[in-house]
Amino acid sequence: MPPFNVPRHAAQIIAAIEAVGFEAYLVGGCVRDTLLGRAPSDWDIASSAPPQEIMRIFKKTVPTGLKFGTVTVICDGGNAEVTTFRSEAGYTDFRRPSEIRFCGDIKTDLSRRDFTVNAMAYHPARGLLDPFSGRKDLENRIVRAVGNPSLRFEEDALRILRAFRFAAQLGFEVEAETGKAARDKACLVSNISGERIKSELDRIFMSERPEMSLALASTGALSYLGLEKIADEKNCFRFLPLGLPERWTAFFYFYRPCNAKAIMGKLHFDVQTRENVLRLLFELERDLPAGAIEIKKRLSSGFTPDQYKMYLELRSALTGCDVSDTIHTLFDIEKHGEPYSLKMLEINGGDIINLGVKPGPMLGNILEMLLDAVINAPSLNDKMSLIDLAKQYLRVN
Ligand code: ATP
Ligand code: MG
Repeated sequence: MPPFNVPRHAAQIIAAIEAVGFEAYLVGGCVRDTLLGRAPSDWDIASSAPPQEIMRIFKKTVPTGLKFGTVTVICDGGNAEVTTFRSEAGYTDFRRPSEIRFCGDIKTDLSRRDFTVNAMAYHPARGLLDPFSGRKDLENRIVRAVGNPSLRFEEDALRILRAFRFAAQLGFEVEAETGKAARDKACLVSNISGERIKSELDRIFMSERPEMSLALASTGALSYLGLEKIADEKNCFRFLPLGLPERWTAFFYFYRPCNAKAIMGKLHFDVQTRENVLRLLFELERDLPAGAIEIKKRLSSGFTPDQYKMYLELRSALTGCDVSDTIHTLFDIEKHGEPYSLKMLEINGGDIINLGVKPGPMLGNILEMLLDAVINAPSLNDKMSLIDLAKQYLRVN
C-alpha cells in the first residue's frame, strides 16, 4: 500500500475524539481516493461519539446534518465532516432510510455503505479496515455493491445511478452481479427526485467516461423518461466538447426523437441550461450556416462566438461533418469585431427615441432593421450612418 498521508487537521480531529475515549476513522471517498493516488475532495470521519460530544470536544462546529449524526468540525488546517457510526433500517421510499440508528461499531457503519470501494476505513495508527475487500475491487477496478446488490438497490435506488457515476469517474466497470441487479431494479429509479438524477448524470457527463450515461440508460433506469435503447454511438462521446449543455444535447440527440424539453422539466433543469440545450438541438436540425452573414445571424439568436464554436465541434463529433471553414469564418468575424448583436450597435434605444419614436414595437423594429443592416455591411456601424438609416426607415414606414 502506498504511504497513506493523512492531513494534519484530520489526524488531529481523530486524536482529539479518541483522547476522550471514543473511536474515530477516516471513511468513504477519502480512503478510496487516497488508495488510488487521487486527491480526495473532502475528508470524512466516522466516530463512535454522538454528535453532542463532537460539539463539546471542538471549539468550532456546524451541525450540518444533525438528524443523520453529522457535525462539521472547522479547524485551521481544514474542515472535516464527523458522522456518528450508524446503521440504517426501514427504507420505505426507495431512497431515505425511515430510521437511522446510531450503533457502536465501525464494521456495522461500513456495512451500510453502498460500494465496497466506498466501505473502507483508515486509522492513522491501526491502519486499513476493509471488511468487504474494497481494496481488491480497487485493484480490479470494479464497482461492487456491499452485500446483496438487489437488496441494496431496493433500499436506495439512487445507488444504481451512483454505481455508474463512480464507474465513470474512476474509470471502473460495474461488477457483473451489481450490473445485473441494476437492470433488475432499474424501474425503481423513477422514485428518485429529478434533481438527484440530473446531478448524477451531470457528473457522468463531465467525467472521463461520459459514455457510461448510455450504459446506465441501457439498464432501463431512465426508461421512465423515454430513454433506453440507442444504436451504438458510444465512441464519439468522449470527443464531444467538454461542456454540460453540449453533452446533454448529445445525449438527447442519441435518443432522438425524444422529448428533451419535457425530460429537462422532469429533471428540474435550470432555465439557462435548458434554453442552451434547446438552442443547440434546434441548431443541429438546421443546415450549417453558409458564409459570414449567415453565421452572424445565428450568433444574433443568442450564441456567443465561443458557444457557437463549441456547437460546431459538437456537430462535427456527432455527424462527422467538416466544420473547419465555418470555424475559420467565425474567427474572422471575431478578429474584425464585426457586429452581430443589438448590444454591439453604435446606437441605442435612447438615440432612436431622440428621433421622436415612442418606446414600443416600432422602436424594436428599427433596432432589428439596423442590426440586419450592419450584419450585412459592418462598415455601416457608426452613429451617423445608423441615424440616417433610421430616419430613412421612419420616412417609409
Ligand atoms: P465524492 O468524491 O463523489 O464525494 P464520496 O465517496 O465521498 O465521493 P459521497 O456521496 O460524498 O461520496 O458519500 C460519502 C460516503 O457515504 C460514500 O463513500 C459512501 O460510503 C456513503 N454513501 C453515500 N451515499 C450513499 C448511499 N446512497 N448509500 C450508501 N452509502 C452511501
Ligand atoms: Mg464526498
